[in-house]
Amino acid sequence: MALLQIAEPGQTAAPHEHKLAAGIDLGTTNSLVASVRSGEARTLPDAQHRHLLPSVVRYTEQAIVVGHEAKVAAVDDPLNTVASAKRLIGRGVEDVKTLGERLPYDFVEGESHMPRIRTRQGDISPVEVSAEVLRVLAHRAEESLGGDLSGVVITVPAYFDDAQRQATKDAAKIAGLHVFRLLNEPTAAAVAYGLDKKSDGVHAVYDLGGGTFDISILRLRKGVFEVLATAGDSALGGDDLDRAVARWIMQQADIGDDADHKTLRRLLRDACTAKEVLSSQNEVALDIELPNGGCWQGNLDRTTFNNLVDPLIKKTLAPCRRSLRDSGLRPDEVEDVVLVGGSTRVPRVRELVGEFFAATPLVDIDPDKVVAIGAAIQADALAGNKPDDEMLLLDVNPLSLGLETMGGLVEKIIPRNTTIPVARAQEFTTFKDGQSAMAIHVLQGERELVKDCRSLARFELRGIPPMVAGAARIRVTFEVDADGLLSVTASEQSSGVKAQVEVKPSYGLTDREIETMLKDSMSHAHEDMEARKLREEQVEAERTIEALQAALAEDGERLLTADERALIEHSLEGLVRASRGRDAAMIKKAVEALEQTCGFYVERRMNAGIQQAMAGRKVEEFE
Ligand code: ADP
Ligand code: MG
Repeated sequence: MALLQIAEPGQTAAPHEHKLAAGIDLGTTNSLVASVRSGEARTLPDAQHRHLLPSVVRYTEQAIVVGHEAKVAAVDDPLNTVASAKRLIGRGVEDVKTLGERLPYDFVEGESHMPRIRTRQGDISPVEVSAEVLRVLAHRAEESLGGDLSGVVITVPAYFDDAQRQATKDAAKIAGLHVFRLLNEPTAAAVAYGLDKKSDGVHAVYDLGGGTFDISILRLRKGVFEVLATAGDSALGGDDLDRAVARWIMQQADIGDDADHKTLRRLLRDACTAKEVLSSQNEVALDIELPNGGCWQGNLDRTTFNNLVDPLIKKTLAPCRRSLRDSGLRPDEVEDVVLVGGSTRVPRVRELVGEFFAATPLVDIDPDKVVAIGAAIQADALAGNKPDDEMLLLDVNPLSLGLETMGGLVEKIIPRNTTIPVARAQEFTTFKDGQSAMAIHVLQGERELVKDCRSLARFELRGIPPMVAGAARIRVTFEVDADGLLSVTASEQSSGVKAQVEVKPSYGLTDREIETMLKDSMSHAHEDMEARKLREEQVEAERTIEALQAALAEDGERLLTADERALIEHSLEGLVRASRGRDAAMIKKAVEALEQTCGFYVERRMNAGIQQAMAGRKVEEFE
């Protein structure tokens, strides 16, 4: 007997009210779109049944071509065909220059920090290139699902910083898409594997794609994911394996380094094909077209290939180690290792990763599709199709966020690897009497001193009502949203004056920079502690000096004899001298000595203050 579904008016969503949503894996090399239909997440193919869309955009005179056709044309029209927009998105001209030797484009500097690529359709930014890819995928989804998308979830590498995330959102905006949220790729993969339905435990997601590497350590507790740590290298992937093979071919076939763009592109394509064949075969035959029109033939076997790529694969183990250290875990405490990204099809990758974690990696879901599938599941939940879904996805911020405080020190507000979204507030106060403005300097990094961290933004809180030093209560709130974007608010608590800034750094940090910043913080930890102690004492000294000078100016004449004043001033000079030195202990001693010397003066001032306050009033008032 067929069952009839009965819906209470306004209660249960009828099937046709199911909101259309899609998950998009916007990859460096390939992109995919997936959606949940009849309770199952699947990637959506194009008319030719292809699921992967090469993230390649070609600008011809008449049209913009995206995908397979563009990828093929890249060999003949490299300058007008952009194949690595994700490597450039949200990055500055300076960052791009360091990548420049690998990218065969004509870069032009725009009026902003954003680099542009000169094509025959004009100067194009990486954001616009990504928008073209998104547009094609969204169109595919709408055709396939038969309606407009209410929103999408787009995945980004866990290591993407603010600028790169913002740029990705901008690309979606240009493509006319509503972004429910950005999601870290490894987190999406864990969702695809349904690790949230498993018993509590720790999982690792190892994602080696075409251009980026990410490792995430996730902990599942009561069905909720917490990302304990993420690390990676956004300039390491299958492309590097291709280059290693291409270099080997160049040596074997005697092709010089001065080969033209076209030859290089073709070589890279052949190297890539050979690499992929070697994932399922032990040997591959090569037939290479030479620049002079000739031809080179040879063989590449898996052992030789493994030797070529071993150093690159081993390079991924350093971030693995770091993420484990950050989580306070040993490799064998990780239960499952999920493999994501086309490059994890390389048998040697599986071997080394399995060895490292002492576990057999999970490979059941196609490593190309797993991220898009997880994104689709999340998009479906966010579209409101799963009101009971309690799945919470927590990501982390990769570097500490903080503020500059007196003396060029950094006060960390949100430590690195804190799960996001997160809001943290801290109170600060004014340093001087009557101070009416406060400069807020937002920083990112692990070091103790401002000069060793990265400046993200500066703004001012103005209109603080005049108060004595230390009386104002300025609350500074750092908020990192689910997409990893930071906003900072400062408000004076008694008056309510407020200032806010959304932090959008003008260009992104490269992974190397992030790594250097982390390494530096560790190797300088002791040095930094010393520096911090010194600065703290110096600030304390400065505060004491200022307060005493102000007091002397106000009532020194009235309350002190010439001898007493000379005594105090002598002690004050001692502190001034000590505070110019680099000996924290000595400064501390000088502050204490001065406080002792001034004891009687402080007492006298207090008494004078009380007398003043009581002047003209009746004694009863104080009883
Ligand atoms: P991204 O996330 O960077 O877009 P993908 O996850 O799509 O990257 O992976 C693309 C990379 O995977 C390319 O470098 C491609 O050559 C590589 N790849 C795909 N299939 C195989 C295979 N069978 N063996 C080895 N590498 C492969
Ligand atoms: Mg990927």
